[in-house]
Amino acid sequence: MSNESAYSEGDLRNTGMALKHDREWDYELERIVDAIEERDAETVGLQFPEGLKRRGPKVADDLRELTDEGTTIMLSGQPCYGACDLDTYLMKRTDVFVHFGHSPMKNTDKVIYVPLFSNVEIRPIMEESLDTLAPPEETPGVGLVTTAQHMNRFDEMREFLEGEGYEVHTRRGDDRLTHEGQVLGCNYASADVEADQILYVGGGKFHPLGLAMEHPEKTVVIADPVNNVVTVADTEKFMKQRYGAVHRAMDAEKWGVIFCTKIGQGRWETAQEIIADNDDAYLITMDEVTPDRLQNFDMDAFVNTGCPRITTDDGPRFHKPMLTPGEYEIAVGNEPLDSLEFDTFHGTW
Ligand code: SF4
Repeated sequence: MSNESAYSEGDLRNTGMALKHDREWDYELERIVDAIEERDAETVGLQFPEGLKRRGPKVADDLRELTDEGTTIMLSGQPCYGACDLDTYLMKRTDVFVHFGHSPMKNTDKVIYVPLFSNVEIRPIMEESLDTLAPPEETPGVGLVTTAQHMNRFDEMREFLEGEGYEVHTRRGDDRLTHEGQVLGCNYASADVEADQILYVGGGKFHPLGLAMEHPEKTVVIADPVNNVVTVADTEKFMKQRYGAVHRAMDAEKWGVIFCTKIGQGRWETAQEIIADNDDAYLITMDEVTPDRLQNFDMDAFVNTGCPRITTDDGPRFHKPMLTPGEYEIAVGNEPLDSLEFDTFHGTW
């Protein structure tokens, strides 16, 4: 998938979980075994994000050793890219359901979240980022954000910047985010801070590109401790692609409006509003939104109310223009072209 995408670094298959570093993750087996014993669980479901699926069998082996023979351990084979993407089928049919690799989007007793924090050192790359950040004498404020994976080092990041003389601005975004300073590929509310520059510490460009598109007025410096590189997020190519898609969709008559059935990706009202307003729009419900699945629909264009990153990162792979809800409004003439902005997702379910 990613090789065909114009933005392979931003591809959903590369959400920073497929890391180059060899590392031991803490799967928190003890916590899982305690839950199994407490609930006398006979069935246990394990869900891993794409980049960690290959670790699943080994974790299942370890749990088999630690639990009674009668315990059945199942691995979710559904694609998974975020905490928005729980395997609800498996969740309903297992006594204990464990979701690895993401922090909770919504706390529930039904799910044990094992975040799998990265153990990569962040200090060396933060030192390097000082050459790219505006110095504190010139620009004292800096916003600080990271992903769930590096959240265990957030205090260390803040202390480092403060030690260098910066005023560090952080906030917790909205309900969709668990931690202060945490960003998701679809939500950068934690970067709504009073600072002209934001330092993103984390792997890959997937998150900071979204962040820079959402906050075009800010400079977003990427300190990537995984690939050991400091860059400034550049959205130009990305935005050109979005304008291109909107232009191509302007002549569309028949629209497919996608409502995603994944638990944390549904925007029912948004989809409904479009359908109510356009007789040539058809609601299409689906879980995984892929080019193959849309190929057979005879539509001129699509608007995706599910994960915004499918639209922005994988958009060029679909046979017809794929727009975000905001871009749709521009394409049909309800909004001006300069209102184009990054699509974000708020709230949970
Ligand atoms: S909806 Fe948000 S959290 Fe879910 S996969 Fe997309 S970007 Fe990630």
